[in-house]
Amino acid sequence: MRAEKNLTIAIVGAGIGGLTLAIALQRRGFRPVIYERAPQLGEVGAGITLWPNANKVLFSLGLQEDLDRISEEPANQSMWRFDTGEIFRVYPRGEATRKAYGAPLYQIHRRDLHDILVTAVKRHDPNAIRLGRALEGIETDEAKSTLIFADGERVTYDLVAGCDGARSTIRGCLLGVEPARFTGIVAWRALVPTALIAKRLRDEPAGMHIGPDRNVSHYTVRHGALFNYLGFAVVDAWTDEGWTIKADAAELKAAFANFQPDIIQLLDVTPMDACFKWGLFDRDPVTTWSKGRAVLVGDAAHPMLPFLGQGAGIVIEDALILARAIAESPDIATALKRYTAARVERANLTLLRSREHAQYWNTHPDKIKDREPVMEVDLNLYDATTVEI
Ligand SMILES: Cc1cc2nc3c(=O)[nH]c(=O)nc-3n(C[C@H](O)[C@H](O)[C@H](O)COP(=O)(O)OP(=O)(O)OC[C@H]3O[C@@H](n4cnc5c(N)ncnc54)[C@H](O)[C@@H]3O)c2cc1C
Repeated sequence: MRAEKNLTIAIVGAGIGGLTLAIALQRRGFRPVIYERAPQLGEVGAGITLWPNANKVLFSLGLQEDLDRISEEPANQSMWRFDTGEIFRVYPRGEATRKAYGAPLYQIHRRDLHDILVTAVKRHDPNAIRLGRALEGIETDEAKSTLIFADGERVTYDLVAGCDGARSTIRGCLLGVEPARFTGIVAWRALVPTALIAKRLRDEPAGMHIGPDRNVSHYTVRHGALFNYLGFAVVDAWTDEGWTIKADAAELKAAFANFQPDIIQLLDVTPMDACFKWGLFDRDPVTTWSKGRAVLVGDAAHPMLPFLGQGAGIVIEDALILARAIAESPDIATALKRYTAARVERANLTLLRSREHAQYWNTHPDKIKDREPVMEVDLNLYDATTVEI
């Protein structure tokens, strides 16, 4: 395809994966179109960690200046006992992380990241993103893919990338619909004005409080103005897969009632209209990510639990590798083979390790005091911009 820059490519989903893929393709001379179901662009109010493996890709796409300007770079990340508040482990970040992995660890508001990506896509092509276009199905063969939208319209492309998230319609069409599995864990997320929280948390803004069957992790975004936290608790049952259900204050406080006073105070000052809860669902890894002229990218291919903070990082890597494979291969079939060969093992291993980490973090701190979490080094030394594909 080195000569075929007029190849028609559709991307379904304007999330982190779809937008990153669009930028990576645009920078290689292609002109992809993104179809997004939502009538407006946007992201939920929450933070996201961009580990060095993600930033290496984003920087290579010309986004370093924007990310440097808006991200927080923690000096360290600490692990606390849930009951006494004792800090039992500190990971130096900042310069130490840059030196170890060749790029910074950043923490950023999801909306800010989304805005940066959307702006970059539109800079290349102001009409690249089509909103309010809900995909209902796809037909694909060795020559083309046809998208079928909710309003009945059908559009045909040389290649379709399914970046439509953990409940992907395209995955359902290509691989069949398999039900998600409830992991037994419920999560809450909130953004709290940092000025309202206890001084100890303000002094150690990036941290994780470990307790039996529950934990709370946090960091600041928007230059320290907002304190982002996530609380996880093991529960008996859950049915809804969405993650924008308004949380109940009494239920939230009851879940973390045995945590030390700084966390209790954090829950007390949480604006409940900006606090949401959702159940964590999981899917087993699959090794087939493409069929005919359609391919899965990101959560559509490998939805993972948030316990490594790497879902988006792996999505961002997928996007760059797929764009590289398309630009550097003689034909689409070869490009898709090279993409899946380069990505399946790493993404699925991260998915499985995220599951293991669910147990690691939701345990009594005495049990993990002397046990390091796994995989950080392997994850972050990887460089999707240079790895052989
Ligand atoms: C609580 C939580 C915390 C997390 N924290 C981190 C973190 O700190 N670091 C990290 O790296 N990752 C984190 N992740 C994971 C990360 O958010 C996801 O892996 C990432 O957003 C997935 O990106 P995506 O583009 O594949 O899918 P999505 O972001 O889900 O985007 C999919 C897009 O497709 C659209 N769409 C869906 N269906 C259709 C359709 N039929 N037609 C048209 N459009 C459609 C959707 O509207 C959406 O815009 C976290 C996840 C959770 C739940």
